[in-house]
Amino acid sequence: MGDRLVEDSVLKGKEIMISACLLGIRCRYDGRHSICPDLVDFLVSYHFTPFCPEQIGGLPTPRPAANMIGGDGMDILSGSARLVDSRGKDVTSAFERGAQEALRLARLAASPIAIMKVRSPSCGLKTPYCDKPGGTGIGVTAALFKSEGIKIIELDANDDFPNPEFFQAIKLMNS
Ligand code: SF4
Repeated sequence: MGDRLVEDSVLKGKEIMISACLLGIRCRYDGRHSICPDLVDFLVSYHFTPFCPEQIGGLPTPRPAANMIGGDGMDILSGSARLVDSRGKDVTSAFERGAQEALRLARLAASPIAIMKVRSPSCGLKTPYCDKPGGTGIGVTAALFKSEGIKIIELDANDDFPNPEFFQAIKLMNS
């Protein structure tokens, strides 16, 4: 079966969760977007749910950048780390609320897969905005989605898509 046919059979009737900034929505901390035109073109054929955890957690746009202190998203969820913005304000509860609201959307959509923005302290799988010995850790929403078994594909603005990680995920979902 060709790749496109496999994608269609795996994703038919399913929602893909998408970090809204990748679609050109200006929801980033700096009021800009991170559009990925290949992704926008790809999604014409599929159902998807855009989300921005930081906005639905109640944070304004634009907003000060935030860093995780004492760990990464897993540690935030377990209560052993916190998020502090560049003005020194503790924004942990807003990030946690945003992650929970994003998960609520994913559950409503029964979504098995999410395409999420790289490096974000919310959406990234390997964000540098954390406090881990290796220098990178998982974002808060990514950690929550992962714990729920949602497959995450990381993507950056202007990346090629579909990419090898996406095809690999689709093959696993099809096996
Ligand atoms: Fe919102 Fe996630 Fe994009 Fe940040 S990376 S702007 S939290 S959707």
